[in-house]
Amino acid sequence: MKTEFDIIRWFDRHHHLRHRAMLELVTPFLAKSSVGGVIMPNLGKPITTAALAKSYKQKIMKLVPKEMSFDPLMTCYLTDDITPDEIEEGFTFPQQWVAAKLYFKGHTTNSHNGVSDWEKLYPVFEKMQDLGMPLLVHGEIPDEHHDIFDLEKICVDNFYEIIRKDFPDLIIVAEHITTRELGMWVRESVNTFGTVTPQHLVFNRTDLLSGGLKPDLYCLPILKRDHHRISLRKIITSGNSSFGAGTDSAPHESSQKYSSCGCAGCWNIIPAPSLYAQVFEEEGVFDRSDGIKVFENFMSKNLMSEVYKQKITSETMRFEKKPFQIPKIIKGVSKIVVPLMAGETLDWSYTLR
Ligand SMILES: [Zn+2]
Repeated sequence: MKTEFDIIRWFDRHHHLRHRAMLELVTPFLAKSSVGGVIMPNLGKPITTAALAKSYKQKIMKLVPKEMSFDPLMTCYLTDDITPDEIEEGFTFPQQWVAAKLYFKGHTTNSHNGVSDWEKLYPVFEKMQDLGMPLLVHGEIPDEHHDIFDLEKICVDNFYEIIRKDFPDLIIVAEHITTRELGMWVRESVNTFGTVTPQHLVFNRTDLLSGGLKPDLYCLPILKRDHHRISLRKIITSGNSSFGAGTDSAPHESSQKYSSCGCAGCWNIIPAPSLYAQVFEEEGVFDRSDGIKVFENFMSKNLMSEVYKQKITSETMRFEKKPFQIPKIIKGVSKIVVPLMAGETLDWSYTLR
């Protein structure tokens, strides 16, 4: 098995940087690791206009360490009121966003401005299809009659199948896939892609709930039964080019994360590359002759040109099988965040070349 190798520097296809003090604290961690990120628009005041996207990108770029090359790809937050013209304005020259994100109203962090009746957005989807603008989806429709563990599975029939049929050329990215059902659906659908987080490949719901509740593992979509984790590992390590790394790294101030009503989200940017490498190793990929290529495609290439129309960087990063210690805590001026796997030692370390 290969225990030391280089790949093209990776790209995080799903990332939350938040705003103000949290933005200042966490942005350098992303910029020092991945060559870019698809930046989620769900701020308290969501990114709904080209002007807001431009100003948010400027704030991010000011926080990128001077020596780093880093390219944040901005996204637009879909609301009930957004118009096809507004979508087009941000997507065409000068381009401010590369995709639009669909949150169904009221399920996850800052989704209160999200979409309450997605069928009313058909003119927007039509415009996106014409423009070649990707639709990114948090595929859970909140519903008091349905169990939280079933929301993603239900969304395949109640949303994905319908929109796929009605807009056959629309590029769809199913974000943070957590179930076998959605993974299989993405694999078998055209113009359809998916991202998978490291935690959904490493942990299951028993890890979250057994032997004491683990707030660090609480995220949305929630961790699922182990057979889903096993299926997703097989799907992404098969070499299918429809899937890419997307951490859904989502920091919360520690006082809000560890409270009687704790926030959903894992701040996983520090351990993410190591955990992805661990998964590919455990699945035997690094024993295969094409194994490093398959890993590199998942980390750095898949989706980048087909979905995001980006050139692949020539910068590289090195993975080595040697202990990598995750810090216990990261303190900013006014915020404290705890990384996923805090204080633990992982098997794979990574450095930029
Ligand atoms: Zn997210």
